[in-house]
Amino acid sequence: MELGNGDGEPSLMRNFLHESGGAAVIDGGLATELERHGADLHDPLWSAKCLLTSPHLILGVHLDYLEAGADIIITASYQATIQGFEVRGYSIEEGETLLKKSVEIAREARDIYYERCLKSSSSDIGDDRILKHRPILVAASVGSYGAYLADGSEYSGNYGDGITLKVLKDFHRRRVQVLAEAGPDLIAFETIPNKLEAQAYAELIEEENISIPAWFSFNSKDGVNVVSGDSFVECASIAESCKKVVAVGINCTSPRFIHGLISSITKVTTKPILVYPNSGESYDPEIKDWVQNTGVSDDDFVSYVNKWIEVGASLVGGCCRTTPETIRRIYQSLSHNRLLQPCSNHIDLKK
Ligand SMILES: [Zn+2]
Repeated sequence: MELGNGDGEPSLMRNFLHESGGAAVIDGGLATELERHGADLHDPLWSAKCLLTSPHLILGVHLDYLEAGADIIITASYQATIQGFEVRGYSIEEGETLLKKSVEIAREARDIYYERCLKSSSSDIGDDRILKHRPILVAASVGSYGAYLADGSEYSGNYGDGITLKVLKDFHRRRVQVLAEAGPDLIAFETIPNKLEAQAYAELIEEENISIPAWFSFNSKDGVNVVSGDSFVECASIAESCKKVVAVGINCTSPRFIHGLISSITKVTTKPILVYPNSGESYDPEIKDWVQNTGVSDDDFVSYVNKWIEVGASLVGGCCRTTPETIRRIYQSLSHNRLLQPCSNHIDLKK
């Protein structure tokens, strides 16, 4: 498999999707699972804290998702920033090492998973683990500036007047370089709350000539705009115009908005569309907790997965509060649509 040849053709994702039978599964929530395995995430570094204290738990969660059928695992670097680690007394070098570690853990999980696939005959594993050799991508997560602030502003997109395009580019620059050098298959710019940050990412990956392809994923709380109130379609257009972006979509958003948002994106993009919504609860930044939605039901979003594929999505997973069980059910839903051709070898995604 080859990366795009620079002409703007997002061939990495197209080839990957072809190998995956036309649709692929993204993993689910990391933080909830880490907590379920015993991690204490009451910390401004949130799930990134585990890079310091309990990398084995991160490895275990990645493996759980692979065994639930995920074709793409997202690293534990969403809230990991060099600046965030510095505030906690770590040097720049130590911060960079922790960022790299997030990619190394995910790559190790993939290696272990492939070993388990080799050792098992999939017809005879005696449990519901999915051990099928197939193309698996490691996506290095980049959370927004608001995720670093840890004040809920990734859900408002309101950074204030002092935060300019230049400030955002400089904030993310070294981190994106370090993550790219660590050898992921792609960089997942996630939960992008406003147009300014999308523009900053697009310019940054061009300026720094980042060789790893990227996806841009936005969040919405009204089904029309991104959370800041900027036009969702304008944000998706920025992703569309960036050659190195190989997929565009929506995450950390209520399932009930997903169908309409996919329809909006299809009007402005030719790139593959990804969706990984929340479980159906909403995060309340005031009380810093998850609350049930009132009025409109989001129960069981898995039943909508094939409808999202029909309207144009080709990558589906889960964000906050989703679990390996959610992902297993997405995998099962998509299996009816996929060609289900087992892939004999791990594809080489590097040039
Ligand atoms: Zn989320």
